[in-house]
Amino acid sequence: MNIDLRSDTLTKPTKGMLEAMWAAEVGDDVFGEDPTVNKLEEKLAGIFGMEAGLFCPSGTMTNQIAIRLHTRPQTEVICHKYSHIYLYEGGGIMSNSHASVKLLDGAYGKISAQDIAENISPDDVHACETTLVSLENTMNKGGGSIYTLEEVRPIKDVCEKNGLKLHLDGARVFNALVESDENPKEWGQIFDTISVCLSKGLGCPVGSVLLGTKAEIKRARKVRKAFGGGMRQAGFLAAAGIYALDHHIGRLKEDHARARELGKMLENHPLVSEVFPVATNIVIARLKGISPEEMLTKLAAKEIKAVRFGKGQIRFVTHLDFGDKGLEEFGRRVKGL
Ligand SMILES: *Cc1c(COP(=O)(O)O)cnc(C)c1O
Repeated sequence: MNIDLRSDTLTKPTKGMLEAMWAAEVGDDVFGEDPTVNKLEEKLAGIFGMEAGLFCPSGTMTNQIAIRLHTRPQTEVICHKYSHIYLYEGGGIMSNSHASVKLLDGAYGKISAQDIAENISPDDVHACETTLVSLENTMNKGGGSIYTLEEVRPIKDVCEKNGLKLHLDGARVFNALVESDENPKEWGQIFDTISVCLSKGLGCPVGSVLLGTKAEIKRARKVRKAFGGGMRQAGFLAAAGIYALDHHIGRLKEDHARARELGKMLENHPLVSEVFPVATNIVIARLKGISPEEMLTKLAAKEIKAVRFGKGQIRFVTHLDFGDKGLEEFGRRVKGL
């Protein structure tokens, strides 16, 4: 058995999802005529109590569109130094929006209202004016850590006081919400835009949705076109999204439980010095006496795949195609390393 825990993007569509895709009613979405895409956008907007949604090929695109909406050249985004928008989107903030970043630090990838307030640049001739704050929930490089409403509300206050927009990179926002048991509608009230990935834990082959006001999504549609993200009969893909929203949200808790078990299996391993607290479906292990590359080779010899994740660290992500049998097998194999 091959145990592939490199990412939760590796899952294949389930039988039920494939059936939903085959059965989709479609049209040309650039003309706004794909009923299934329209339904997905409305459904997800409804879940968060937001006005409108925009289906896009990737989470990188939904984030980059949001950044374009909320910045201008010579302005900046405040975010954590480990943010996906900064580390893993090909320098898009600079090349797509001609904007800059101000990187903050904080435990497990999270930033605080106070730190943000202290780092806002004024509209001064010398400064790169701050126009946007971007948060990530769950926080990938923070080990799948969760922001709670209690932590996010003071950040919203700082943004309102200073006329800043607030974006959520919610690639794994449902992982956060099922775990914290919070209402998506409360999250929808706080953020100007939210980006949600369907292709991560929710198990779709492709797709992300950007949520915002009607006016913002109208502008976003135009930016998506310019980025080359206008798709035609995309309803086949959107149908997978609708299916996932109906069937795959609650089960994320199973991924989290398996991740916690997996974390325990690694905790006392002689080659592991520390396992980040496991909050959702991501397990980051800091290694001792072995490099990530050597460790990955050892794991590969036992048919386990993971990825290097920062200096001296590797990452495992649990997902839809990793069940209890896989977990048991994982435990047996890593014991012998
Ligand atoms: C995966 C991911 C994205 C988007 O990635 P795509 O591969 O472009 O869909 C954005 N933010 C975070 C935190 C992610 O993990």
